[in-house]
Amino acid sequence: MKNIDWNNLDFQYIETDIRFVSNYKNGSWDEGALIKDSTVTISECACVLQYAQTCFEGLKAYTTVDNRVVCFRPDLNAERMESSSKYLEMPPYPKEKFVNAIVDVVRANIDYVPPYGTGASLYIRPFMYGSNAVIGVKPALEYSFRIFTTPVGAYFKGGIKPIVIRISDFDRAAPHGTGHIKAGLNYAMSLHAIVDAHNKGYAENMYLDSATRTKVEETGGANFIFVTKDNTVVTPKSASILPSITRRSLMYVAENYLGLKTEEREIAKEELRDFKECALCGTAAVLSPVGKIDDHGNEIIYGSSMGEITKSLYDTLTGIQSGKIEAPKGWIRLIK
Ligand SMILES: *Cc1c(COP(=O)(O)O)cnc(C)c1O
Repeated sequence: MKNIDWNNLDFQYIETDIRFVSNYKNGSWDEGALIKDSTVTISECACVLQYAQTCFEGLKAYTTVDNRVVCFRPDLNAERMESSSKYLEMPPYPKEKFVNAIVDVVRANIDYVPPYGTGASLYIRPFMYGSNAVIGVKPALEYSFRIFTTPVGAYFKGGIKPIVIRISDFDRAAPHGTGHIKAGLNYAMSLHAIVDAHNKGYAENMYLDSATRTKVEETGGANFIFVTKDNTVVTPKSASILPSITRRSLMYVAENYLGLKTEEREIAKEELRDFKECALCGTAAVLSPVGKIDDHGNEIIYGSSMGEITKSLYDTLTGIQSGKIEAPKGWIRLIK
C-alpha cells in the first residue's frame, strides 16, 4: 500500500502509476494497453480541443468490510458511456471490454485503493475524445478511450452536514439537447453558474427545466430525491436529466429493501415546500442532504440534519456497497 494519508485526502487529482488506453483508427478499436505515461499528445486542431467532442464516466473502487476490492455496477457506466458516445457521434467502446479494462486498471493500481474504514476510495475516470485534426465541423475519425484512477478522500469529513443551494437563473440543459449524456460540454457551461453560486454562498445550483422554468431537474453533477410527508421517495422525471446510477440504485433500495413507495415523475417547483426531505445523489457523496433551498429570497427549509428516510437510504446503500448488507445480484464487481 502507498504511503498516503487516507484520512486527509481531498477530491483532487493525484497521479497513479498505470492507466488504460485504447485508440480507434481506420474504423476499429485496438487491443488497448496499460501504460505509464499520464500525458496526452494530440494535434492542436483535435476535435476535442476545437469542438468539445468528449464524454466521460465516474465510479469508485474501494475496500469492503471483508477486505475485498470491488466497484459498484460498472456495467451501468459502460452502458451510459455507450449512449453518451453514440449521441456525440463517437464510436462506442465495447461494454464488456470497458468493464474488463476497469478491473485491469484498478488491479494495476491496487496499492492506491484506500483501506476499509477511511471513507476514501480510488476514483475511476473513463473518458473518450476525438483526437485527430478537424477544422470543418464534423466528428473526428480517430479517438482515444482512456481510464485513469486517482485516490480521493471521504466526501463527508467530520459528519454529514446539510447543504444550502439556490434555484439557478442559468440553465443546464435544453429540452432536446445533451442533458441526458455525460458530456464534458455540459460541465463547461456549468462552470460560470457554479462559481457564481459559490461566490454567493451556495453549495450548488438547482436547475429547472429550461423550457418553462417551472419543474425541478437536477444540479450540475447530481440528481435529486425528495421524500413526501407520507414517506414516498420521489425523483424528477425529465428527458434532460443525466440518469444517475446512484439515484437508480437508491430508488431500487427504497422499494425493495425499505418497502417504501417510489415515484419518478415531473416535480413542479411549487411542490418543493410539500416535501419533508431533499437530497442530492451521485457517486461522490452517495446522498448529500439539502437543508435549505433559496428561491430568490424565498427560503424552503428542510432542516439542519439528515432526514430519517434519507438516512436509512444512505445507510442501506452504503451498507450494500461496503459488503455489510447483501447486494442485489450483479451490483458488486469483484476486483481483488
Ligand atoms: C455523473 C452525474 C450524476 C451522477 O451520476 P452517478 O452515476 O450517480 O454518479 C448526476 N448528474 C450529472 C449531470 C452527472 O454528470
